[in-house]
Amino acid sequence: MSFCKNHNGNFLYLTIPSFSETGLVNHGFTSRLGGVSKAPFNSMNLSIGRGDDPDAVKENYKIAGDAIDFNPDRLVFFPQVHKNDIFVAREEDAGMGFRTDRPEYDGIITNVKNLPIATFHADCTPIFLLDPIKEVVGVVHAGWRGTALQAAGKAVLKMQEVFSCKPENILAGIGPCGGKCCYETHKDVPDAFISSIGDEASDYFTPFGEKYLIDLAGLNRFILTRNGILEKNITMSGICTCCNSDTYWSHRATGGVRGGMAAIIMLR
Ligand SMILES: [Zn+2]
Repeated sequence: MSFCKNHNGNFLYLTIPSFSETGLVNHGFTSRLGGVSKAPFNSMNLSIGRGDDPDAVKENYKIAGDAIDFNPDRLVFFPQVHKNDIFVAREEDAGMGFRTDRPEYDGIITNVKNLPIATFHADCTPIFLLDPIKEVVGVVHAGWRGTALQAAGKAVLKMQEVFSCKPENILAGIGPCGGKCCYETHKDVPDAFISSIGDEASDYFTPFGEKYLIDLAGLNRFILTRNGILEKNITMSGICTCCNSDTYWSHRATGGVRGGMAAIIMLR
């Protein structure tokens, strides 16, 4: 089972079938299609602070909010710094995303209903989490640094610690990111994986000339399973953002001049 493609007018966003089936959440991973931003942010850009017209970004949030069914004014999100700190969002944090004095976090979890949480992506791996028993959701941003720091595993641990979630109940979705076909790095990256994760990480990179090709999605799936998530409960999008940069934002394919996509989830 893969992610499901949804269209609302020109707006394309992805959802995870196992998440939708619970009836507990509104969620989506946005694409770069169906917004109002002008080049080079055309057209669906949800990243603030990259130079796009703030009015266009605001309209994009409205388009995404209408389709996915969340109130953008209540969004909780943070500047992302490629670390593994996980924020526990409470009702009083509603609207935190648009405040200027926010701390930095690469992952968010919450059990508050009607409180949308989001992380932003353009090649870095989005990880969605949902415990349908305890009714807890999470999103994580993991590029290679966040993956080496096992940010997704840290989010699972935090769900156990704060909300007494059982990993075997947790559903996960790993969205579009730089694929093993395209995500090329120097040796420092596989070295960081081995030193932090162990020798098992070597299944998720292959030598490519002087460099290496990295399977970020596969490695994040491994990290989740090592933290007790069942393989059958993990949905992979199988989409490479670099190969599909006309549909998804890719930092690498655009040379960094780009908008951003959001991984958004909210308990109903
Ligand atoms: Zn690719």
